[in-house]
Amino acid sequence: MSRSSAVITLDQSDLQAWAAGFAGEIIQPADPAYADARKVWNESIQKDPALLLRPTGSSDVIAALAYARDRGLEVAVRAGGHSIAGFSTTEGGMVIDLSRLKGIRVDTQHRRAHVQAGVLWKELDRETQAFGLAVTGGLISSTGVAGFTLGGGIGWLQRKHGLACDNLVSADVVTVDGSLVHASEKENSDLLWALRGGGGNFGIVTSFEFELHPVGPEVMSGLTFYPGESASDVLAFFRDLQPRASRDLMLAAVLRLAPPAPFLPEDVHGKPVIVLAGMHAGPLDQASRELAPLKDIAKPIADVMVPRPYVQMQTLLDASWQPGFQNYWKAEYLSALPDGAIQVLVDHLATITSPLSDFKIPFLGGAISDVPEEGSAYGHRDAPFILNINARWAESSDADRHIAWTRDLWREMQPYSAGGTYTNFTSVDDQDRTPDSYGEVKYKRLSELKRRFDPENVLHLNQNIRP
Ligand SMILES: Cc1cc2nc3c(=O)[nH]c(=O)nc-3n(C[C@H](O)[C@H](O)[C@H](O)COP(=O)(O)OP(=O)(O)OC[C@H]3O[C@@H](n4cnc5c(N)ncnc54)[C@H](O)[C@@H]3O)c2cc1C
Repeated sequence: MSRSSAVITLDQSDLQAWAAGFAGEIIQPADPAYADARKVWNESIQKDPALLLRPTGSSDVIAALAYARDRGLEVAVRAGGHSIAGFSTTEGGMVIDLSRLKGIRVDTQHRRAHVQAGVLWKELDRETQAFGLAVTGGLISSTGVAGFTLGGGIGWLQRKHGLACDNLVSADVVTVDGSLVHASEKENSDLLWALRGGGGNFGIVTSFEFELHPVGPEVMSGLTFYPGESASDVLAFFRDLQPRASRDLMLAAVLRLAPPAPFLPEDVHGKPVIVLAGMHAGPLDQASRELAPLKDIAKPIADVMVPRPYVQMQTLLDASWQPGFQNYWKAEYLSALPDGAIQVLVDHLATITSPLSDFKIPFLGGAISDVPEEGSAYGHRDAPFILNINARWAESSDADRHIAWTRDLWREMQPYSAGGTYTNFTSVDDQDRTPDSYGEVKYKRLSELKRRFDPENVLHLNQNIRP
């Protein structure tokens, strides 16, 4: 693929004249920084933008949008760059890369965090935990706060404190007509409703305000590994525990081939395992009591579920989720996990195609289901589980078999679907499922808001809501 055709069309004297009013960084294909700047987390996505702009504030974002609109450039918006579908880059268009917007202000008195759009979860967790506070954040610390929150935001604290988007109190949004709009319960409340799960469809958020909660600093958390042969028993236990688990407890069942981790016996490396990964956000003695039955389901291969700092738990899984690999993901909310579903999962553990892939089922419920289904854009709040299939491999030439395995597992789990998918986990071929993520009534309301805030669908590189 040629990496140069689209870019020469930019009029350099026009760009130079415009740049006088732009305070941020401008990166073009000829610049040394371009090779790194064009990359996104998912190596399967290879696109060459004509221009990357790194604004220093809302006025730069307004200027960038105007530049793109006036010259007919496609716009991609990037915060942490973790979109699996590759929405945060464009072939021949402009990337508005918000990574220089790193400001965080923690208001301990009101338990609020004011967070600029380029902040990553590891940065926000560190800052809030300095004061014993936190908001539901990603399981992997390199994820961007912005894209994660706008799509929903599933994390270890969600059953106690709701999704990230449920904790979004207000936002500053640059709309495509160049206005700066504040969205809160009092001002533009319908826009806030849409930002809580409706993704990047309505404007570019430059700053987020979150509600914070006392957390930790030590929480019982980590991983318990069981042999693959115990997968049915572990999944049945996990299923039966969900309706009676406390809101402090968030567990995910993870099925994969054992990684070569130092705490796992060498003879297990590369063999099928099932892992219960989790965190208990309550007092340590309560956590010990509630987690004690995990040791009796089957004999664990390794048990590293121990008291540890919350910030450490937030980075515990990072090593397996580095950038630079090929990825194809699919997700489905599940209405239940009957024995038939467990059998499908166990069968696909036996045929998993890559030592880097996994599929996982986190608990949902708790505080997520407290918000009425129509209370925010985010959908399927009643689902007790979600299935995330994360195929991951090294060589691009290998894609077909990993993608086929992913689609096969997803297809066989359809009888247990709650009727939709989570937009933050979808791949590029899932666009037609966006309406199902919200349901008919909410999708209609979201379309009306899209018509109001972005009638020409300038911001279409996302799980697109059509105006
Ligand atoms: C390794 C990994 C781990 C993950 N773990 C979790 C997890 O634990 N829980 C979970 O819920 N999800 C998880 N995800 C999915 C994640 O929530 C989405 O990929 C999300 O889009 C990432 O946000 P980002 O800012 O990094 O992405 P980007 O690629 O930068 O942005 C994705 C999209 O969000 C929109 N967007 C981003 N910033 C803005 C903004 N400021 N204003 C308007 N629109 C914007 C744009 O449409 C953009 O294309 C994970 C993804 C990866 C790759």
